[in-house]
Amino acid sequence: MVATTEEVLELHGRVRECTACPLHLTRIQAVPGYGPATARVMAVGEAPGENEDREGKPFVGAAGRLLTSLLESVGLDRRDIYITNIVKCRPPRNRDPEPLEVEACSHYLDEQIGLLQPDVILLLGRHALQRLLPGAGGISRLHGERVRRDDRVYVPLFHPAAALYNGGLKETLEADMRRVRGYLADAEATRARRAGGASASELRKVAATAGGDQMDLF
Ligand code: URA
Ligand code: SF4
Repeated sequence: MVATTEEVLELHGRVRECTACPLHLTRIQAVPGYGPATARVMAVGEAPGENEDREGKPFVGAAGRLLTSLLESVGLDRRDIYITNIVKCRPPRNRDPEPLEVEACSHYLDEQIGLLQPDVILLLGRHALQRLLPGAGGISRLHGERVRRDDRVYVPLFHPAAALYNGGLKETLEADMRRVRGYLADAEATRARRAGGASASELRKVAATAGGDQMDLF
């Protein structure tokens, strides 16, 4: 069952009011996530930066523009993807999130994954990898690989911010994204097979009319 927009917006509302860790003291606003409730792909970054804190949406700065173009380079429209972060509030001066902050915030991400049930979860950078696939290994070994755990499919990728000023890393990220395209095709085929022959696009239509719609969430 695909999440409804109402369910996702309700979660976003709780995140915006959250005061469970000290990051709420220094934020302008929380950044719960953005994207349609029916998204089949979820991307998870580290934490909001300055632009995100100001706008209330994830990945709206330079790293976000690179993410958008990487997605487009393999035929994915950013508007079809649900994007969020490990922690929902900006750490001061963009420092790494503290373990206690990750701990306090992680149930929101668990809820988001539980609601959307994405076919593929892109883990952008080592914080997302550590949090969602603890013990799996480091990013330099796992980037671009498809990792299955607990009936979910994850793909660790280098963080787009790391690739901004590193051409070699950017090329690696582009090559990894091309592999993601193949993983998505596999996931769609599996989904269609499980549904007894209905095509993935038919399924999405059914899901959309059943309550989850395609509108952007904020
Ligand atoms: N970097 C992240 O990890 N997340 C954002 O939302 C923006 C930049
Ligand atoms: Fe709440 Fe997460 Fe923000 Fe901390 S980072 S205040 S846990 S939403």
